[in-house]
Amino acid sequence: MPTESACPFCKIVAGEIPATVVFETASALAFLDIGPLASGHTLLIPKFHIERISDMSAEAAAELTGCLPRLARAIQSTSGADGLNVLLNSGRVAGQVVDHVHFHLIPRGPDDGLGYRWNTGAYSEGEAAALQKRIRKLLESE
Ligand code: AMP
Ligand code: ZN
Repeated sequence: MPTESACPFCKIVAGEIPATVVFETASALAFLDIGPLASGHTLLIPKFHIERISDMSAEAAAELTGCLPRLARAIQSTSGADGLNVLLNSGRVAGQVVDHVHFHLIPRGPDDGLGYRWNTGAYSEGEAAALQKRIRKLLESE
């Protein structure tokens, strides 16, 4: 579990390693991904070290996600994309490699070869209602 001092994104915030910064606020930074899936692939991060979106306060998350619409417009417009994927990987099993919260903004075009495969499932009888009950109960107990 990387600490703040070993975190590459904290190093970018501190100016210790270079990044192609495209946007900055008092609490957020956006820079081009070093291994882009498409030209203009950008990462949006909070300036403080936090590993998972589920660890963030509502206020900090709101501040970060509040940057998304403007940034999305700029990236889509400058890259000439027809749309974009906004993606956040949380945890190793979900593909998170850098343990500092980051949103990917990935410009998309109709024939970009990136594809989109989401193997959907279906709930069995009563499963969704049972799940709904458990989630609501947990949220209401907080
Ligand atoms: P994830 O798999 O969601 O944790 O994505 C991590 C992303 O960070 C990958 O797309 C990497 O290419 C990107 N990345 C890692 N190090 C750097 C860096 N120093 N500058 C820019 N992007 C980086
Ligand atoms: Zn960090």
